[in-house]
Amino acid sequence: MQKIIKRYLAKFDEIERLGDGYIKSLPNSYNELEITVEAYLIDMYLEGYASVGYMLSDDVERQPDTDRVMSALMLIIAGESLYDRLRGYYEKGDAEGIKTVLDTEAHRMWMEGAEDRAIDGGAGTKQWITVGDMRVRDNHRYLEGVTIPIDADFYTTRGYEEDEILPWDTIDVGVGKKFLLRERHRAYAGTVTPDCRHGCAGCGANCLLKEVSCDA
Ligand code: SF4
Repeated sequence: MQKIIKRYLAKFDEIERLGDGYIKSLPNSYNELEITVEAYLIDMYLEGYASVGYMLSDDVERQPDTDRVMSALMLIIAGESLYDRLRGYYEKGDAEGIKTVLDTEAHRMWMEGAEDRAIDGGAGTKQWITVGDMRVRDNHRYLEGVTIPIDADFYTTRGYEEDEILPWDTIDVGVGKKFLLRERHRAYAGTVTPDCRHGCAGCGANCLLKEVSCDA
């Protein structure tokens, strides 16, 4: 596992260096940027795929299906593809933006490759590890060691148990979990909570207000 973590971090160093290079000087043409970035991201996917192959030790030579690699690369996020974002930043001369795209996409592509390989190897679950980097992982610490299914339905259509740790539990916007749960029960019962301008429903958001107050 340590070897895989080292390879993973080394790949990120490579992509960091590429991003830092763009901050010093952007490529002469957008096409040049696109070709280089595409090659790095495909490499990240293959690295994720191979790493899980080593963990499973079933068939380390196995290669992914090209269509899956390309569909991971072409994924549309918030109405934009990787290429839309890259071109947008390139045309604005925004090297920091390009570097951010590289960082986030590299991580995503590694994970896509890793999950695809796990599915190909018959694995039904994955376990979160924070690769020991606690400096940047404060918000992720609660996930350490947690095992979850690798299954799109798990994230989309299955619903959530009431006692589950939820992805947004680490974010504090004042609105408490008890209130959200109460709202869930009311929603299932078809009961609408009145607009809080006609009476506070006790969501908790007012705890964060210092010099202003809610509309109620
Ligand atoms: S009045 Fe403020 S605290 Fe009360 S329900 Fe509305 S937003 Fe939440």
